[in-house]
Amino acid sequence: MTLDDLPIRDDLRGRTPYGAPQIDVPVRLNTNENPHGPSAALVADLAEAVRRGAGELNRYPDRDATALREDLAAYLGHGLTAERVWAANGSNEVLQQILQAFGGPGRTALGFEPSYSMHPIIATGASTEWIAGAREEDFGIDPDKAVAAIEEHRPDLVFLTSPNNPTGTALDPAVIARIVAAAPGMVVVDEAYFEFARTGTPSALTLLPDHPRLIVTRTMSKAFAMAGTRLGYLAAHPAVIEALLLVRLPYHLSTLTQAAARVALAHRAELLGTVDELRAERDATVEWLRAKGLTVADSDANFVLFGVFGDRRAVWEGLLERGVLIREVGPPGWLRVSIGTAEEMAAFRAALEGIL
Ligand code: PMP
Repeated sequence: MTLDDLPIRDDLRGRTPYGAPQIDVPVRLNTNENPHGPSAALVADLAEAVRRGAGELNRYPDRDATALREDLAAYLGHGLTAERVWAANGSNEVLQQILQAFGGPGRTALGFEPSYSMHPIIATGASTEWIAGAREEDFGIDPDKAVAAIEEHRPDLVFLTSPNNPTGTALDPAVIARIVAAAPGMVVVDEAYFEFARTGTPSALTLLPDHPRLIVTRTMSKAFAMAGTRLGYLAAHPAVIEALLLVRLPYHLSTLTQAAARVALAHRAELLGTVDELRAERDATVEWLRAKGLTVADSDANFVLFGVFGDRRAVWEGLLERGVLIREVGPPGWLRVSIGTAEEMAAFRAALEGIL
């Protein structure tokens, strides 16, 4: 039997799953993780928290993850409280819950591409029609064109990603505010990479008090160096959280996940302590690639989009042969490299030099 023989939903036929290759190579610069693992002291604290949690695994976890949400609210600042913060297994699950609550059959979601490939995949999974708007040549969003697209399509949801994946482009909150004012439904600003933004870049969190239909999503997978924990979260009006409670599965965040995430938040000085170094490495990577004559998108994230190659697959494969895995993503001819340690970036530069 093949997939086509199954009575699968018609709107899923012919689709391809999310597929960043997981290949075991010496230098992995393909999924925008933080290259630094936890210190021995943090590992010990995590193990202790898991040990304590393990003694209660016969019981369900705190269904509303209240203590964790309080910690997340304290981290975010901006006067936020637990009732304005929600958490799930990665920001992907947060986004899925948003689509389950505000999308659905007969509803639409608009995004501006190139952007995060999971937005349309999660929308489709929630039977929400995806409308692909366009970004400008510099990968920014023109607010007049965005407002025109919103007026034309009247989407139930608008997705904005800032800093954007895979381009690294941050949006001016004034642009976001114009879009929120024009949108008839919910506006989601995906800030998975916010902590990497250049100093002074304001968060869309600053817009929340005036915009009750705005949702800002974040994750502990990137700057927080906790991708394996699977912890994503959002900030929004308390009524939005009430809407999400209608679709979330009970006890979706395990006792161990909640415990590990709280320990990570308590150790945020260590975990976020690598961000400055990664930013500097990013800026140096942009400069180096430009000096090689390549076209490089300005980046406020922990990755860099560069090109433009006649045969990007050949460049991607050449790097892989040299033990460096990056990502074949973005507009035709472009490639994306995540920022690793200084040694990993040296390996990337040496490998790319061998190809150019
Ligand atoms: N949003 C963006 C823009 C991303 O790039 C990613 C991860 N690649 C996510 C959300 C999801 O991350 P997670 O589910 O690990 O929080």
